Amino acid sequence: MHIYADNAATTKLDSDSFASMEPFLREEYGNPSQPYSLAVVCKKAINEARKTIAECINAEPEEIYFTSGGTEGDNWAIKNGSALYGNVLTSAIEHHAVLNSCKSLEIKGVTVSYLPVNQKGLVIPEGLARLLKNRPALCSIMSANNEIGTIEPIEELAHIAHKHNSIFHTDAVQAVGHIPIDVKALDVDILSASGHKFYGPKGVGFQYIRRGVKIAPYIDGGAQQSGYRAGTENVAGIVGMATALRKSCNLMPAEIKRLQRMEKLFFDILSGSNLDYIRNGAENHLPGSINISVRDANGEMLLHRLDLMGICISTGSACDSTETQISHVIKSIGVPVEYSAGTIRVTFGRNNNDSDAMEVARAILRVLSL
Ligand code: PLP
Repeated sequence: MHIYADNAATTKLDSDSFASMEPFLREEYGNPSQPYSLAVVCKKAINEARKTIAECINAEPEEIYFTSGGTEGDNWAIKNGSALYGNVLTSAIEHHAVLNSCKSLEIKGVTVSYLPVNQKGLVIPEGLARLLKNRPALCSIMSANNEIGTIEPIEELAHIAHKHNSIFHTDAVQAVGHIPIDVKALDVDILSASGHKFYGPKGVGFQYIRRGVKIAPYIDGGAQQSGYRAGTENVAGIVGMATALRKSCNLMPAEIKRLQRMEKLFFDILSGSNLDYIRNGAENHLPGSINISVRDANGEMLLHRLDLMGICISTGSACDSTETQISHVIKSIGVPVEYSAGTIRVTFGRNNNDSDAMEVARAILRVLSL
């Protein structure tokens, strides 16, 4: 048996995405900045991909910049966005790509404020408004959390930021390709995304930067991407990412329903047992995203026992030689100590089916002898 249920960590490369990349890994190897035909093919493919991605998130093609992934996008937005305002405002449950970018700014003397979240992992809009009063900032709040799947009220938060003359970045790495994203409706200024989270290749992502937002380039070098993101483009990666995003968006309505059904099948099995657990995250969460904390259990032990059974999941805690480290997200939502060390994340995706959902639930109960 092999069940991959860690789709929030990464997804399996889609076969159409792979097929679209293949020519650019072999015969179409020209440098897209050169003027001859071999290279022009690559330039055209990049422009097509830019158009496709823009359409998928309701942006304009010239507002899309290709990056090496979510980490680069977050670093760019936070570090260079802060140069516009000095202050940064973010949430306590961001990915480390955001949190550690903030940390490095703090070392340089920049003021960073961390908004707390409620027990569901939701940022409270009034909290943002209070902190922004008389002090504009770069605001960075994730669209959806990678551990507990909570979808944040981005439209409302971006509106508050703008009311207070601030700009708004969202790390949408977990959201793009999984829930509808319309940058105009959300009213965000900068958005970061990553190909490998929606069945595209690893090491490639994109940054949406609203026209008129004056953030400095992050990677200096040649004149690629209008001088805004230097470096010879990862042509195959860019093409594969666009194919994957188009497909994810086309499949999205049916996929959301299917993943929600799988979640229900999973919880039907858990609730029919004696398992003492808390489900973490908000009602409005990423489809197929499950995070539970089991009383008096050890998440890391569960992960390894499930691995021996051919099942890949993730945990919200890690043991070093002396103590159990609970993730910052699980701490921030206040999971009680008797449950927090037993936190696991199960994230179903396109390649899972109903029987996988039931099998993972049964396997968890088997490991815990329930
Ligand atoms: N932001 C979030 C919310 C993520 O889940 C991840 C990856 O796990 C990243 C950023 C980093 O993205 P990448 O792996 O493309 O650098």
